[in-house]
Amino acid sequence: MANLSQSELEFSLGNNVIVTQMTQAVNWARKYSFFIYPFITACCGMEFMSVAGPRYDLDRFGAAFPRFSPRQADLLMVVGTISHKQAPILVKVYNQMAEPKWVVAYGVCTVSGGFYDNYATVMGIDTLIPVDVYIPGCPPRPEMVIDALIKLQDKVQQETLSDHVKGPALVTPSERL
Ligand code: SF4
Repeated sequence: MANLSQSELEFSLGNNVIVTQMTQAVNWARKYSFFIYPFITACCGMEFMSVAGPRYDLDRFGAAFPRFSPRQADLLMVVGTISHKQAPILVKVYNQMAEPKWVVAYGVCTVSGGFYDNYATVMGIDTLIPVDVYIPGCPPRPEMVIDALIKLQDKVQQETLSDHVKGPALVTPSERL
């Protein structure tokens, strides 16, 4: 090393050293290690099981392990119709998840209520909690779910430290009782 010129040294280091920012490195690790809390209420759940199985293999994206405790999960996957009776539970689960956390609305029922335009159904979970990615479809095909996961990974990679704090849900559980 001592005998290398400045340009030779820079050339040599350039082949062996990766320079990055801490946020970029942390985001890179986070986007490949989602721990999913599957909040499954209805028929979309069947399709979710297939996308989590070996054929479509969510493991390839680092999102294979479901966690059934909100405190151990960072990706809330809301799958199926959400009724007003279930809304306080969904809000509570979201609030119990630690930051940083992300939410996917899986299927048209969670996105907008779908064709359940009635007194019992929540017209989109984004009236309750912030949503990062929406997946339309009834039910969505596995390819759409994988596409959404990749979009979420891209979003996570671009996040700054201030984006990591989402805060509590948009409503309190008691407001929805
Ligand atoms: Fe069922 Fe379709 Fe609603 Fe999914 S979007 S929960 S498949 S009705």
